[in-house]
Amino acid sequence: MRATKAIIHIDKFQQNITAVRTLIGPTPLICVPVKANAYGHGAVALARAAVDAGAQYLAVATVDEGAQLRKAGISVPIVLLSIPLPEEFIRAVQHQLTLFVADHEGINLAVHAASSTKQRVPVHLKIDTGMGRIGCRPEEAVDLARHIVGSPALEYAGTATHLAASDSQHADDILYTQQQLARFTSAIESIRQSGINPGIVHAANSGGVVLHPASYFDMVRPGIVLYGYSPVPALLPVQPVMELVTQIVGIKNITRGESISYGRTWVAPADTTIATLPVGYGDGLNRLLTGKHRVCIHDAFYPLVGRICMDQCMVDLGPDTTIRRWEQVTIFGGVADSAAIVASRIGTIPYEVTCNIAKRVPRLYRGA
Ligand SMILES: *Cc1c(COP(=O)(O)O)cnc(C)c1O
Repeated sequence: MRATKAIIHIDKFQQNITAVRTLIGPTPLICVPVKANAYGHGAVALARAAVDAGAQYLAVATVDEGAQLRKAGISVPIVLLSIPLPEEFIRAVQHQLTLFVADHEGINLAVHAASSTKQRVPVHLKIDTGMGRIGCRPEEAVDLARHIVGSPALEYAGTATHLAASDSQHADDILYTQQQLARFTSAIESIRQSGINPGIVHAANSGGVVLHPASYFDMVRPGIVLYGYSPVPALLPVQPVMELVTQIVGIKNITRGESISYGRTWVAPADTTIATLPVGYGDGLNRLLTGKHRVCIHDAFYPLVGRICMDQCMVDLGPDTTIRRWEQVTIFGGVADSAAIVASRIGTIPYEVTCNIAKRVPRLYRGA
């Protein structure tokens, strides 16, 4: 196996699920989003680990992602969080995915697709309370709920919304989330008052779980906290699941004035030792980290120097190093800086750092 690997700590992932369970109490269901290959960690392995740790639902973004889980034998309900194309509905239904619907056309497409199976197709009505992405307007919810319950091919299994600013502790964002929850609650009440059961009611993403207990309802959908990045670690301590490691494939001494990598942007200010690592932006190590990242070898940190290449990058070990070729290096996670710190260096979020770890990086599952 190649030197560069993503070590996925299944035990930490399951401990994070337990931490969420402890925080939310015994009642709400837990739906684990495993979209985008489980935020880069590996969808099938993490889906199995989530179910073993007590998660009752999974969520994906594409029909292929849902099909992959079904082919792996996973049988818990899987919510399709995004809207598929008309031609994708039949496959979604054949794989027994639970569909988000947000308009009459979506309900009709679900009804049509249902004719390809003998079972009733579970749908969740998605209400847009302020995310501006998918969902009906709150005042349309009752009409759409009637359409769903009037369609014998469908099972009205749930009602959901999504929070836009729940992970922020700024006063205006807290207020915005409370307004979203008020709109959602009032839409749910209207559905109930019209004599319709809205099914499983759910709203909370990670921010909702950590900062807004009023968002729990019947089910929560925390993603990023389960992968180990908490918006408020003091309220929900979690451990990063992914650790990116590699090994040194070459070491050389260079003299003051010699340059490293493309464009000669880094010139040695003094004689030093340079290690070459077989990891680059083709593995998902963002090229914008050039000049901004440090790796961990044993217990010490060393800076990346020169531009990050597609497949390789270089580290300054200093002039009198005892570090040797083939030794282990941690790029992020574990003893090194977390993916959240890496993200902050380049103005992004930990989601993107772990999602971008490429397919060619083998995932090694530990602690299962
Ligand atoms: C991705 C996603 C989540 C999980 O969001 P996190 O910020 O990772 O907790 C929840 N709900 C929906 C609809 C999503 O798309």
